[in-house]
Amino acid sequence: MINSELKTRDLSVVWHPCTQMKDHEWLPLIPIKSGRGVYLEDYDGKRYLDAISSWWVNLFGHCNPAISRAIEQQLDRLEHVILAGFTHEPVVTLSERLVSITPAGLDRCFYADNGSSAVEVALKMSFHYWLNQNQPEKNRFITLSNSYHGETLGALAVGNVELYKETYKPLLMETLVAPSPDCYHREAGEDWESHTRKRFEDMLALLAQQHDRIAAVVVEPLVQCAGSMRMYHPVYLSLLRQACDRYQVHLIADEIAVGFGRSGTLFACEQAGITPDFMCLSKGLTGGYLPLAVTLTTDRVYQAFYDDYTRLNAFLHSHSYTGNPLSCSAALATLDLFEKTDVLQHNSTLARHMARQVETLRDHPHVGDVRQTGMILAIEMVKDKSTLTAFDWKERRGLKVYQYGLDHGVLLRPLGNVVYFMPPYVITEDEIELMCKTAVEGIHLATR
Ligand code: PMP
Repeated sequence: MINSELKTRDLSVVWHPCTQMKDHEWLPLIPIKSGRGVYLEDYDGKRYLDAISSWWVNLFGHCNPAISRAIEQQLDRLEHVILAGFTHEPVVTLSERLVSITPAGLDRCFYADNGSSAVEVALKMSFHYWLNQNQPEKNRFITLSNSYHGETLGALAVGNVELYKETYKPLLMETLVAPSPDCYHREAGEDWESHTRKRFEDMLALLAQQHDRIAAVVVEPLVQCAGSMRMYHPVYLSLLRQACDRYQVHLIADEIAVGFGRSGTLFACEQAGITPDFMCLSKGLTGGYLPLAVTLTTDRVYQAFYDDYTRLNAFLHSHSYTGNPLSCSAALATLDLFEKTDVLQHNSTLARHMARQVETLRDHPHVGDVRQTGMILAIEMVKDKSTLTAFDWKERRGLKVYQYGLDHGVLLRPLGNVVYFMPPYVITEDEIELMCKTAVEGIHLATR
């Protein structure tokens, strides 16, 4: 009863994100009353296993007691204070801890309140760094095809998923695009590393030709998440770091989706042993509780802005909720959970279990690829397996899997024809089995 009442009230006043609202004439909206662990529950008591961590943010389960307690305690002390001219303990401690766990050399934290804004900060800081170095001509960015960095205009401009970008092209700055090292389209029999190395040649050529006008290269390390969970080998990042050094170009690592353990290591850049000039973090930063984002950078970048006021070199960028204390306390509690147990080790067992459950799909006539990086596993449904010809997007095959999942108590949210899992780390092996079994059945049904 309350379920249907909420749906009606919602549809008369709310405009939902990333949604063609007309779909809700036939696609039910799901009102959620509560969450616990990997489960979300509606007003009729129906439960949904959150296989996508609510847009990839949740790490340690919904309503995690430790994170909830930390926020409650902070709530009684200080809810918010302006971060210009003022500071507070949670933001200082969080910054110290982020500096100590991210790749060596990332020594400064600049806060925002969502992932897209963290990318905007990195883009502006990189351009402004070169300006402060008397190199104003370095004002362009190189991005990868199929990349995604958020929805605000700067972040959208450096992304390349046509579905989100095409409409707004007249509003966006121009970027230079290098082909993605995505290994889905590698030649038959070729391994990930050699394919990735080959793709790097194009990036190298672009850097060699254009470096004088390039401020930075922006990448999603290892997995292009919104770009259908396409994956590549870490060697790309090592080669890119070397080339960026050689050509005096910044490297921006957008770890908003892959950071905090999703890739198998705490940060994906670790798998290449590199330190980017900027690292953007959000999503899992607060364990999925509250909006917070941070752009970490090097002391070298910081020093280029450190000057007498009258020289007007400062980075005059701000957001009202920058470094919100409640969000910082959630982030600190999240880092405590990483410290308390060997989360990454446990995740590697879970990741193997996940892989075993979908192994049979490799032989499915309409599955073109089953790929995995750490706790992210993706299954690409195709029309023709031998040529990897995609199903027509208008057939909305992924949506059929989504609907099947909801009917069977699992929240899957395919990206086009790609079904994927990115569950909270508190998922059990039994829950993985339920999640995978439901997805496999949904895929069988959707590809008939
Ligand atoms: N970068 C990446 C790699 C992302 O996956 C996302 C969000 N999906 C963003 C940036 C944007 O983050 P937000 O949605 O918090 O603006």
